[in-house]
Order: sequence, then C-alpha cells, then structure tokens
Amino acid sequence: MCAIVGVFGSVNASRIAYYSLFAMQHRGQEATGISCSDGHKISKVKKKGLVTEVFDEEALNHLKGDMAIGHNRYSTAGSKSVIDAQPIYANYKLGEISVAHNGNLINGKEVKDMLIDEGAIFQSDMDTENIIHLIARSHKEHLKDRIIEALGVIKGAYCLVIQGRNKIFAIRDKYGVRPFSLGQLEDGGYIVSSETCAFDLVGAKFIRDVRPGEMIIFDKSKEKYESIQLFEPEPRICAFEYIYFARPDSVIDGKSVYAVRQEMGKAMAKQDPIDADLVIPVPDSGVSAALGYAKQSGIPFEMGIVRNHYVGRTFIEPTQAKRDMKVKLKLSPISSLLKGKRIVVIDDSLVRGTTAKRIINILKDAGASEVHMCITSPTIKHPCRYGIDTPSYDELISANMSIEEIRDYIGADSLSFLSINALKKSIGDDREYSLVSFDGNYFIN
Ligand code: 5GP
Ligand code: MG
Repeated sequence: MCAIVGVFGSVNASRIAYYSLFAMQHRGQEATGISCSDGHKISKVKKKGLVTEVFDEEALNHLKGDMAIGHNRYSTAGSKSVIDAQPIYANYKLGEISVAHNGNLINGKEVKDMLIDEGAIFQSDMDTENIIHLIARSHKEHLKDRIIEALGVIKGAYCLVIQGRNKIFAIRDKYGVRPFSLGQLEDGGYIVSSETCAFDLVGAKFIRDVRPGEMIIFDKSKEKYESIQLFEPEPRICAFEYIYFARPDSVIDGKSVYAVRQEMGKAMAKQDPIDADLVIPVPDSGVSAALGYAKQSGIPFEMGIVRNHYVGRTFIEPTQAKRDMKVKLKLSPISSLLKGKRIVVIDDSLVRGTTAKRIINILKDAGASEVHMCITSPTIKHPCRYGIDTPSYDELISANMSIEEIRDYIGADSLSFLSINALKKSIGDDREYSLVSFDGNYFIN
C-alpha cells in the first residue's frame, strides 16, 4: 500500500506530483501530502483525505519550486491521525529534509526503541520517522552518506523519496518488493513513481524501473541524474501487486499488470475447468482475470454484477460490521442475466471471505442455479509484513479453514484457488517473487 512520487527539474513540479498522486489514489485513500523545494525553502501540504479533497489551487500555489515529492497513505486501523500523513518533514543539522516511504520496515520497532533510548522524540507512529532520525544523528558530512548509513540500519521493504533543498534521492530496497519506476517529463525534468499509470497521466516517458538496491540522485548542480548501486540486487517483486494492488494499466518490472491478470484467469481455466453458462467478474478487481478465464474456456463473459462507484473500497472501513454493509452498498446483480444459469464467478483474492460470501448470496438470490467461485490467486495463509495490509492470522480465512470448509462457509457449489506455481508462471517464470502471504517465506530478516 501507499504511493510515492518524486518530480525533479520541472516548473510544474507540485502539479505533476498532484496528478501523479491522483493516478495512484487506489494505493492509499487515507491521507496525502506533497512537499516542494525551490532551492531555498521546502513548502509542504499534507492532510487526511483524498488527493482531490486535500489539494486546491491555493495549496498548489503554496507549493513553490521545481522539486517535489508526494505520498498517498493507506494505513491499518488505529493510526489514522493526521500526524501520520507523509511526507515527513524535519529540520536538522544540514537544513530541511522531507521523506516519503512506500513499504514496511520489519525492524521498525527495535530501531525506534533504540532511538528513544538515546533520547529521540517521536512525532508519529510511522516507521518512516526512524529514517529521518537516523539521517539526523549521522555524523557524515553529506546527506547522501547519511542516507546510506541510515539504510544500513533499516530492514524491510521500502521505496523512498528523500528531499533536501537541492536534491531528491530515490531508493528501492535490494529485493525490489514494491514497484518503482523512472521517467522523463516533457519539459526535460524527471519523475519517479510507484506506478507507471502516473507517467501516462502527466505525459512522462518511461525510462526504466528503479533497480532493486539502487539509489538515484537528482542534483541541481549536475546535468544528469546519478545512479549508485548500494546493495547487490536480489529481486523479489511482490506478487500481490500484480494480483490486486496495482492498476491494470501499469507496467511493473516490464510486465503489464492487465496482461498478467488475464494470464492468471487463463491459467485458472486450465487448472480447474468448469462446465458453466457464464463467466462473471467480481467488479472491479476480478475483471481482467475473468476476461482471461472466458477466453481460455470459451464460456461467455458477462458483467453480471454492477458496482456502485460512489462507495469506497471495502477495506477502508476497519471494523467487520461496517465492511459487511459496504459490500452490500457496492454490488448488485443483473437478475435477468443470471436466472437459472450456472455461473463461474472470478475474484482476484480471498482474504476474510466477506466479499465472496456476499457475492454468492447475491447470485443465488438472483436465481443462479450453480455458483462456482474461482480465486485467481493462491490461498492467503500468512500476513504480509512487507507493505500489503493483510490482516493477522486469526482474520485470514484460509489460515483457519480448509478449502472445503471455506466453500461451505461462503455457500459456493465449488471453490478453487490458483496454485502458487500457476501464479508464478502467469507473471513470468524467469524470476523470484515475494509470495509471503501464500507460502509464509519471510525472506527479509
Ligand atoms: P475479503 O472480502 O475476502 O476479505 O477480501 C477479498 C476482496 O478484497 C477481494 O475482492 C479483493 O479484490 C479485495 N482485496 C484484497 N486485498 C486487498 C487490499 O489489500 N486492500 C483492499 N482494499 N482490498 C483488497
Ligand atoms: Mg475486490
């Protein structure tokens, strides 16, 4: 979760950051912020709310300069105060600094305790604040070396944009767990962002992905950006970015998210062929995969369930009761299509089982004679600790029930999940992925 963006050397820096954050609103809806430097001073705006709610003309005019960084926040229940919005800004020995982070640090608590023990005062609950403290305490002369020192202490999944008065640093952890891409703007400036869908909106040309373990430095006094390979890369992009999180029009590490989702649907049809009359997606998350399933199986595709777009994502509400209601508000069936039909319904993932149970209820109520639920990802048995908001073991239905028990609980005639192998093949067999939610292999330690 979360989106970050950095814009360097553009007269429209704050506006480009704003549009980029708008394009990446799906990665976090809780709070948003931009900080912008004109070479002398960093100005900043951050607040709870959506990008379009937080930034108006006045805010964008206040953000002066040609270097901006920005952030959309997606947080778990309990840390919803405005103080937990990013970028995080501070004044330290070398002057002003602003940091935005996508990912999750696994030793955040230990580092924080160590810092507090040594007298640090924390303003927020965010593990990102550790990074600022580590930079501020370093005795190195240059910001770059201070950052490198801080990166030697933190562990976990991170993409970072760090802004000084005249520079922006873009850093991706050595596993490249979260996506991060580099592009060039029409006016010659540069952009880095969590997803390439931001480039399309602001008219930037994709250059390449930020490499796992790489630091890119944009510096006013240099003509071109500088690249430093800080850590030996061990690429393991998060499979869940392809399954659910990223927008289908983004390209992550060379693979189109839309195409990968279609492959997952095709693989599902090959893995578990079903005799049925219609394939329908759970909108919107199941659409691309359902198209793939329909193509592979030859079963007609229909939008049998309509989504009300004025309801936010189900996960925004942190309590279970509110979540149930939201699913109802969000989805309704086209009964004339469904009556008497054998339906294959496709969704991208099953977390708590709330959506699937409700969907099957809706379809049966609408007169479907059989409902076969196909989930185009494997069973989620472990919480992700690298930046996806999966709940703890006791809430993960697949960690507590067998597939047959889940089938019974959600009321489906059959239930299938894509195998881990088929998932890997659908994205591309040529590399490793972060699959922690599925296989429990917490490889960062
Ligand atoms: P469940 O209803 O089983 O708890 O969750 C499954 C549904 O939530 C699927 O429709 C899937 O698209 C969606 N989903 C999966 N992961 C996430 C997430 O990290 N955030 C949000 N907002 N939705 C998710
Ligand atoms: Mg969904």
